[in-house]
Amino acid sequence: MVTAENGVAIAPVELGLADYAAHSSRTRGRQHRESPPGFRTEYQRDRDRIVHCTAFRRLIYKTQVFVNHEGDLYRTRLTHSLEVAQIARAVARALALNEDLVEAISLAHDLGHTPFGHAGQDALNDCMREYGGFEHNLQSLRVVDELESRYADFAGLNLTYETREGILKHCSLRNARQLGELGQRFIERRQTGLEAQLANLADQLAYNNHDVDDGLRAGLIDLEQLAEIPFFAATMTAVKSKHQRLVGRPLAQEVVRNMIDQLVADLIVTSQQQIDDASPNDIDAVRALNGPLISFSAEHVDAQRQLKSFLHRALYQHPKVHRMTERADRIVRFLFAQLMSDFGNMPVAHAENARAAEQQGGTASAARVIADYVAGMTDRFAIDNYARLGGKD
Ligand code: MG
Repeated sequence: MVTAENGVAIAPVELGLADYAAHSSRTRGRQHRESPPGFRTEYQRDRDRIVHCTAFRRLIYKTQVFVNHEGDLYRTRLTHSLEVAQIARAVARALALNEDLVEAISLAHDLGHTPFGHAGQDALNDCMREYGGFEHNLQSLRVVDELESRYADFAGLNLTYETREGILKHCSLRNARQLGELGQRFIERRQTGLEAQLANLADQLAYNNHDVDDGLRAGLIDLEQLAEIPFFAATMTAVKSKHQRLVGRPLAQEVVRNMIDQLVADLIVTSQQQIDDASPNDIDAVRALNGPLISFSAEHVDAQRQLKSFLHRALYQHPKVHRMTERADRIVRFLFAQLMSDFGNMPVAHAENARAAEQQGGTASAARVIADYVAGMTDRFAIDNYARLGGKD
């Protein structure tokens, strides 16, 4: 609590939270001690730091499925992150969870992604195979813990434990062992807080539905194909019975909107039921449970699975997307090899980092500096550098 000069006490507001939610006043804290924020909660401070960081601004030029220059109307990682935050906040408020925390996790969850979505990540992971691999979740944590350089007192953003716990959705056991308290839950198979569980599902919900929407917009999938998905077909029938004249793109948009609506409603109702049944007293009781409490009903888990397997088959393997994926793979491998063979291909500060890392920790350490540099690239920056270093299309 802050006492203003006139003696009036002002506390940051965190009203209406359930006992089982994350409470700012009970945070496990930050790696580097800091005085509490004056008029914000700890999680508002986390969210604000994320929005102001460089990696967050780069998300606008990074893509998931469609490369940034293919069109202005497709989702980017930035708009995806905003959609995840919006969905997660709506559910958080309905369940009396901490909206600020769930927003911070949602906005940060993709900060570690390479250019060109999963194709870029797979290629970089392969390049790093001998040097400890590359995991995008772990990289998001690395960005907020180490790579961002904005504050005089510490490297990284020095976020709270709860936000970092939410960012690290998955992690190999080998890496978990090196992460101290944060990695312990993967070893002991403990749960995260509910806000982290929620951000994870809001992510899936958002990308499944917006990939359908973007795929339709790009003309790579059509309504007839989508009608093979029982969940989509049932929703389309319901929409058509309400709006008989709706066809084409307006119909598709209304169906996608309705699917999101159903999934969000199901997520709230199912999760509330599970929370009521388990009735945890606080966030540590949530962490000690055998499974997550935030989830879809079995029926809607299946609906999500239908969407996902359709997208894998029809969109992600589409010849046009596949061509882009192959190009992304080629670009990332080429860049990594060129930078490894001559650190001077990077800007001076990065080259110096790589040299210093090599002297201290050998090739693996230098490779990590290069992986950080490549992972930080936007799609267009990677494409430009590919051409500059003599890459051929
Ligand atoms: Mg995501």
